[in-house]
Amino acid sequence: MAGKKTNLTDQLKKYFGFDTFKGNQEAIIQNLLDGNDTFVLMPTGGGKSLCYQLPSLLMEGTGIVISPLIALMKNQVDAMRNFSEDDGIAHFINSSLNKSAIDQVKSDILSGKTKLLYVAPESLTKEENVEFLKTVKISFYAVDEAHCISEWGHDFRPEYRRIRPIINEIGKAPLIALTATATPKVQHDIQKNLGMVEAQVFKSSFNRPNLYYEVRPKTANVDRDIIKFIKNNPEKSGIIYCLSRKKVEELAEILQANGINARAYHAGMDSATRTQNQDDFLMEKIDVIVATIAFGMGIDKPDVRYVIHYDIPKSLEGYYQETGRAGRDGGEGQCITFYTNKDLQKLEKFMQGKPVAEQEIGKQLLLETAAYAESSVCRRKALLHYFGEEYTEENCGNCDNCLNPKKQVEAQELLCTV
Ligand code: ADP
Ligand code: MG
Repeated sequence: MAGKKTNLTDQLKKYFGFDTFKGNQEAIIQNLLDGNDTFVLMPTGGGKSLCYQLPSLLMEGTGIVISPLIALMKNQVDAMRNFSEDDGIAHFINSSLNKSAIDQVKSDILSGKTKLLYVAPESLTKEENVEFLKTVKISFYAVDEAHCISEWGHDFRPEYRRIRPIINEIGKAPLIALTATATPKVQHDIQKNLGMVEAQVFKSSFNRPNLYYEVRPKTANVDRDIIKFIKNNPEKSGIIYCLSRKKVEELAEILQANGINARAYHAGMDSATRTQNQDDFLMEKIDVIVATIAFGMGIDKPDVRYVIHYDIPKSLEGYYQETGRAGRDGGEGQCITFYTNKDLQKLEKFMQGKPVAEQEIGKQLLLETAAYAESSVCRRKALLHYFGEEYTEENCGNCDNCLNPKKQVEAQELLCTV
């Protein structure tokens, strides 16, 4: 066992240049190498990708990574290619590829040089791809962002529910599912749907001690508050999330008009501009990206210094994922949310056209978010509790409620003066 361990660390160094594993990466990787189904709950930035990237290089065949976003795949494939002389080492198949690009991918896979193949769930379920994959030696399947399977997750994608049957059709191999959304409900859903209730579960602590959480009242001056915040944090990278595309564009314009180097990002923009804005943000040509939640999943920018929620997020899972994009390098990360009860009502209204079951889930998730926003309990404690983890410190020292406790008396005084 000791021999094996040094060996893995050597491989880590050799391929990725890292000296040590983070958290329980090594145990996870060993479990997958041993051929076992593996379930990984690890917060954003914890290093989930490595848990399948390294094994893919050590195992025979091609590892299949099912991943929801095209932007994310490109990011990861590029990262893998950095470690290899041959671009064929990693590929993706999704709707952005034309026929000849797909032929190239397939020929690289069949030649045996492709260790990792990223596929979008829509592409995985395509008959011709299923037929092709049946002819491939598969080392394992990785389901990244696995919470997309669950309606209780913050990013439910129905195609994700077809993964298990398709895997059965293509051919069995060990399965690793990974997510940063760890509510017990979501976990149960994922394991059940993927047929891996027996899998070994690796759950890391979800605490991100370097993140500062604050909820501010959202007033008519919210734009001014945000401008002030950004100007007080010059040259730092930040993300501002808004619920609607319209608001994203409006706010980006307002910020620009105020001399802030900001750009918009949402799924309704033409893809060239969107990609350009994303790349400019990653390359630090711009400081601030104003975006819908379409931005950021899996995108690895280690030095995002703040995440602002202009509107209350639809769920705490979403909130946690989005705020989790701050301070991935362990440095400062301020997470500021603007909250007003009015936004709640707006969100509830949006849900009205939806199927009843979906509405029920949506309302429940929203209520939990509102309770969090209105609470005077330590934010960290509340969040970790939501993820099934107990935080026992008296004072986290890094949230608004711990740094400036709302005193009962003050609240009463306020009421009297109004
Ligand atoms: P997640 O998917 O869990 O959000 P990523 O896989 O994107 O996280 O990894 C986050 C960052 O951590 C990346 O920059 C990655 O290169 C880095 N990382 C992963 N494993 C290690 C390690 N063992 N040592 C140092 N950095 C690591
Ligand atoms: Mg990831």
